Amino acid sequence: MQAALFDGKTLELTNYSLRKPAVDEVLIKVSACGVCGTDIKIIAGKSGATPPVVLGHEFCGIVEEVGDRVNSISTGDFVSVDPNIFCGECQYCRAGKVNLCENLTALGVDIDGGFAGYSIVPAKQCYPLPPKLPPQQAVLLEPLSCAIYGFQRAKIETGDAVVIFGAGIIGLIMLKLAKLSAVRQIIVVEPDKIRRESSLQNGADFVFDPQTAEYSAEINKITGGGGNAVIECVGSAKVVEQAYRLVKPGGRLVIFGVSPADRSWTVKPYDIFRKDISIVGSFLNPFTFKTAVELVCSGKIQLNDLDIKSFALRDIQKAFENQQRRNSLKTIIDMSI
Ligand SMILES: [Zn+2]
Ligand SMILES: [Zn+2]
Repeated sequence: MQAALFDGKTLELTNYSLRKPAVDEVLIKVSACGVCGTDIKIIAGKSGATPPVVLGHEFCGIVEEVGDRVNSISTGDFVSVDPNIFCGECQYCRAGKVNLCENLTALGVDIDGGFAGYSIVPAKQCYPLPPKLPPQQAVLLEPLSCAIYGFQRAKIETGDAVVIFGAGIIGLIMLKLAKLSAVRQIIVVEPDKIRRESSLQNGADFVFDPQTAEYSAEINKITGGGGNAVIECVGSAKVVEQAYRLVKPGGRLVIFGVSPADRSWTVKPYDIFRKDISIVGSFLNPFTFKTAVELVCSGKIQLNDLDIKSFALRDIQKAFENQQRRNSLKTIIDMSI
């Protein structure tokens, strides 16, 4: 089969032979696999991986074969894959903090993933889906599950004002989650005009261009002193700083975006103390994949209106370019093309 293999330096399409699934694994014929910002970072050497490895961690497909000890999944099931595998034995797993697992591995990062005709995955990582759910939406369940955890970390309460920095795919998903909550105001800060417009279409009450001088004063005025929850979905220390300044006393700042590891920002501890502000991170998707599946299958979260561009596996380089240049909100590899 064809697979996009990362050898530690570059990503190349190669002919790859499949092994047999183990007793607790399933063989999936991949339907689609999303290209994530993390994939771009892995190839640029800015995010860890265990090469040689088939990349692609946001994928779905049809189960073609199941191992002898698999009961929960059957041949013919359409499934989405949670790529993050925890050990269940370390101190963090035992404390229920599985995203902090000391032996965490991920499909498409450390173990062969979904940019391939087929993928072998542990059955426990698979979530059966309705056969009618389009693969283009099923690949978004992984990013949605991560966003749900970030949203949970924001501890949104009824009547809150929520400020979201960045209206890429994650920012828009956060906006959709906020729309499901009884919040007072949803404010999106985003430099790109098209993305601001799509935020308004998705129900943002106000949108602001951070390149305008008066935007933070305006937000302070509208909200009465800042957001009760401010969620950074950009991945920039500079933007985290801007987001921090807009947290209302007693409020929460969620750092969701992945800032470069060597960047920092200056913060006055007195400020955090006096304003009683919580600053929290959000790493991966502990126990939120099922929620993601349920929200999409119940129709509460609609993913059919997002600007997604599909490429064939043979055009994976073009797909990566598309994702890197942010030509669309999301890029996926569609195995039916
Ligand atoms: Zn990802
Ligand atoms: Zn563990």
